[in-house]
Amino acid sequence: MPASAKNTDSTDTSKTRAKKAPTKKANKQAASEGFTDFTPYEPKKGEEYMSSSQLDHFRQMLLNWKQELMEEVDRTMHHMQEDAANYADPSDRATQEEEFSLELRTRDRERKLIKKIDKTLDNIDRDDYGFCESCGVEIGIRRLEARPTATQCIDCKTLAEIKERQTGI
Ligand SMILES: [Zn+2]
Repeated sequence: MPASAKNTDSTDTSKTRAKKAPTKKANKQAASEGFTDFTPYEPKKGEEYMSSSQLDHFRQMLLNWKQELMEEVDRTMHHMQEDAANYADPSDRATQEEEFSLELRTRDRERKLIKKIDKTLDNIDRDDYGFCESCGVEIGIRRLEARPTATQCIDCKTLAEIKERQTGI
């Protein structure tokens, strides 16, 4: 590579490409992204991984998260019922339809997440929680707190995602 190439960077217009800040309004969908309203679990000295009090901790977290999601689904439905208006202007109508379809997708995602939470709660009840379903290692308390429905350790998850990208479109 010619050394001069290094110094032309400042005139390179591609450098000025503005980073577009996300323009999406910050909507209240925090619950569908993850559950953050909890106190991190501090294991006692020598405490066994996935002891009954740890399982209780995650059961409670999942129940609270589910509750929050169900309230969100309710809110969405109310919102759509209240907002449903008969606009004379076709472009107003289009905007409303677009907004509704977005909300329906959100609701759909929330419902799927609720199902996943239910499945995870089942696993906790069967004392089958916290271990990677692919390799069997401990998923870890911190990772589970960030993703209480995780069924794989970070390594297997990363690998699965790489494979998905390769086989995907
Ligand atoms: Zn694993």
